[in-house]
This record gives sequence, structure tokens and C-alpha cells, in this order.
Amino acid sequence: MPCVRPCARVFYPSRISPVYQQFMTDIAVIGGGIAGLSAAIYACRAGRSVVIFEGNMFGGQIVYAGRVENYPGIVSIMGPELADDLRNQAFALGAHSESRHVTGIEVHRDRKIVICGDAEHEFRSIIICTGTESRKLGLKNEELLTGRGVSYCAHCDGSFFKGKTVVIAGGGNTALDDGVYLKELCAKVYIVHRRSEFRGNPVTVKRLERTPNVEFILESEITALLGESELQGVTVRNKKTGATKNIACRGLFVAVGRVPKNNIFLPYVRLDGNGYIETDDEMRTATDGIFAAGDCRRKKLRQLVTAASDGAVAATKALEYLEADLKSAVYS
Ligand code: NAP
Repeated sequence: MPCVRPCARVFYPSRISPVYQQFMTDIAVIGGGIAGLSAAIYACRAGRSVVIFEGNMFGGQIVYAGRVENYPGIVSIMGPELADDLRNQAFALGAHSESRHVTGIEVHRDRKIVICGDAEHEFRSIIICTGTESRKLGLKNEELLTGRGVSYCAHCDGSFFKGKTVVIAGGGNTALDDGVYLKELCAKVYIVHRRSEFRGNPVTVKRLERTPNVEFILESEITALLGESELQGVTVRNKKTGATKNIACRGLFVAVGRVPKNNIFLPYVRLDGNGYIETDDEMRTATDGIFAAGDCRRKKLRQLVTAASDGAVAATKALEYLEADLKSAVYS
């Protein structure tokens, strides 16, 4: 049951059922990826009121994942389909959603405030599941040319470059998978990687090596983006020789990893040196009643299955926190 404690300055999200408008909602889940949706499913099944804040698309990274074949019990599923199933499951169990970007949080003893610009929402506990965002190359005009040739998602934007020459930056599995996807669509695909060997799956590397329209440019980095209002090409510098060359291309797919975006939760969480939220094994952060789950927290393996597991643990611990909180309110 939702908490019966009245709250003074609550702003209620549009999809919240009127019955909750008299009460403080139990749990805010910030982020609608697999960790957040899993947390919502667990909390809703336990009868708690949950609002999921998601500023973009539900599903997080899996929406862009192409085919998923490493989720136990599901032999093969397209990422967006898995995202849809999870979202539908959470909503069917009673989760509500708020399509807004969270800009900060505040804690006033047992009240947890989620801030979205000028709106404030009040909860009894928070589960942070904000994942990570694409790392940028840090080049001049990168932001300006984003959406004008520069992209961070081959599966989303690849079809805009049918029959054209494109460049992929990166040497991990994302860059390689992007290569596999784009080689079918594009006339020519260059993969520029700063080392002599790829970090990603060797089987995929071999497969791409044998593909006539794919060319690896190793030990090299992209040093400039060419074009004023649309991408026209990139400058590539060989790190060993220092030689530079321009490659004419209409698309650049940046696949150089991901970074967390957790500063908005300071000072209520502690971050490690890379910006990930420090939690214990039970997803507790530095503040009582605030939990973190999924890729946003410090952990060794960032996979769908570990994100789902984190979400379940965080929700279970949040439920325990809510029980304890209610008891202390009753007996105080
Ligand atoms: P990643 O494994 O961290 O690889 C990032 C790549 O970008 C690395 O090759 C790195 O180079 C390079 N890089 C980083 N910063 C750079 C910069 N400023 N300029 C140029 N290059 C830069 O990231 P990811 O490929 O996105 O993969 C993330 C995780 O998801 C990994 O665990 C991956 O295995 C997993 N994943 C799995 C699949 C799959 O199973 N099919 C698909 C996608 C992702 P260095 O090698 O020099 O560090």
C-alpha cells in the first residue's frame, strides 16, 4: 500500500492514478532501461506505488542493441521488442511513468525530491537507474554536426546513409557490431581504431576482415571533422607515423564506449574516479533510501542480465527500507 503520510509540496505526474494523489508515492525509479524496468516490476508486484522517470525511450540501450541473444531463457529477440515487453509488463503491474528528464534530487530527511527543471516530485525512496551515455570524441564541431552526419547509434541512423561511405570510430564490440550492420547498407565502411588490435570479439573481426566493402584503419585516430553544416569527411592521423589523410564520408558513427552521467545526484551519492555510483552489494548508496542499479553504478560486468539483477535487488532493498520507515513512523 502507498504511504499515508501527507506531503506538502508534491507535484504529481500526469499518469499517476488519482488515488495516489492523496499520498506520497513510494518509489521513484529514475531511468527506464532494463535495470529501472526490472526494479519497477519487483516493486509493483509487492504492491508499492512506482513512478518511472524516463526522458527518452523506454528500454535504454537495448533499444539500440539489434538482436539480443544473451538473455537467459530468451533464445533470440530484437532489442526494441524486449524493451516493449518489459515496459508493458511494468505498466500492466501498475507502474506509472513521467516523460521528463530529471535534473537533480534533494533529500529532506525521509522525503526524497526528484527535480525535473522547475517541477518537483516527492517520494519515499529513489532507485537511480540512469545507465550511461555515449562518449564523445571531443572534436571541434562534433556537437554541431551531430544529426548532420555524426551519429552515436548505427541501428537508429544507419538507413540515412544507404549507398554512402561511412566511418566508424572505435575498437570494441559496439564498433564491430556497427560494422556488421552498416556493411549491408553502405557502399564503403571504414573502421578507425587507435590500437593495432581490436578489443571486441575476434570472430566478428575475422568476419569483417573478409568483407570487401569494409576497411580497417588501425593505430589511427580521427583528428578533425570536415564540413560546415553537414559532415563531408574526417581527417585521420596515423599514431605511429604521424601521417594524416582525409576520408570523404557522409556519416561518422562514434562507438568509443559510454560514460556515466551521475553528477546530478551529488552530494547524495558517492562517485568513484570514473563517475560511477558507489553502492554496496545491496544497491545502497551513501544516502538512506536512495539506491542505484544497472550500468550507472560501479560494477565489473555491465550486461542486460546484471542490470536486471541489480534492479531486482534494489527494489527488494527499497521495499525493506519502506517497511522500516513506516514502522519507525508508527512507533515514533
Ligand atoms: P568498449 O568495449 O569500452 O570499447 C570502446 C572502444 O572505443 C575501445 O576500443 C576504445 O579504445 C575506444 N575508445 C575509447 N575512447 C576513445 C577515444 N576518445 N577515441 C578513440 N577511441 C576511443 O565499448 P563498447 O564497444 O561500446 O562496448 C561496451 C560493452 O558492451 C562491452 O562490455 C562490450 O563487450 C559490450 N557489448 C557487447 C556486444 C555484443 O556482445 N555483441 C555488443 C556491443 C557491446 P581502446 O581499446 O584503446 O581502449
